[in-house]
Amino acid sequence: MHNIIQELRGNVRVFARIRPFLPDDGEQGNDSETALVSHDGDAKVSVVNPNNPSQRHKFAFDRVFAPSAGQEAVFEEVSEFVRSALDGYNVCLFSYGQTGSGKTHTMQGAGTGVMRGLIPRCLEQIGLHKIAEEKDGWEFSMEVSFLEIYNETLKDLLRINLSQECKHEIKVGPDGRRTVTDLTVKVIDPNDRAAVDAIMALATKRRATGSTDMNATSSRSHSVFTLNITAMHVERNQLVRGTLNLVDLAG
Ligand code: ADP
Repeated sequence: MHNIIQELRGNVRVFARIRPFLPDDGEQGNDSETALVSHDGDAKVSVVNPNNPSQRHKFAFDRVFAPSAGQEAVFEEVSEFVRSALDGYNVCLFSYGQTGSGKTHTMQGAGTGVMRGLIPRCLEQIGLHKIAEEKDGWEFSMEVSFLEIYNETLKDLLRINLSQECKHEIKVGPDGRRTVTDLTVKVIDPNDRAAVDAIMALATKRRATGSTDMNATSSRSHSVFTLNITAMHVERNQLVRGTLNLVDLAG
């Protein structure tokens, strides 16, 4: 029933998140009267032409998150898709926008508290479902990989041994599934908070050390977090495979 509702609501949905004013943005835009970008109800964004303030463009989305919307509110909206991945669907979430607009903040976030982003929150939710469904006889195995695409080159963000150069390629298997060669795939229990935090910290570190200029990295690199979920119910002879891809696109 959940997945029928998702299909009726639309398999593809586009949300806009307006990031709050930051000190580095300069003075303009500090209050809603002079802001060049503002939300207009729950589903519209207005953008003002700075050279001609009377010119205002409106864009419609499935939902707009105001600057005051926290990480929790954004997660609540996408958590429905996470449920679908557990039910065997292939779910993909892209964050798109110019450098500095808040993509990494939204996807990864910061720390382990309220500022944590969609990736750790999705894993948390999956962990809770796992516990509930294990009581019903389901057994889960989950694997995670995290890669970066920088100037068309694939980089494994979870690789421990950095002494050897590794060249990765995208291959299409006989079953039509795409895989990346020599990519680190870690078995993960989403309820193991320490393991999840370690993966996030390692990926962040690898992304940061790949370049001396974070701005250049963010504007040219895509990062792809993939969680493969396999659920098996031996008694009912059922096997369910779903994938959750969380993609932070280049700015
Ligand atoms: P991008 O990944 O799109 O280049 P970032 O996620 O790095 O952008 O965001 C740029 C800066 O703005 C960071 O310092 C980030 O912490 C901050 N930021 C972005 N979105 C928000 C938000 N919703 N609330 C508070 N700070 C934010």
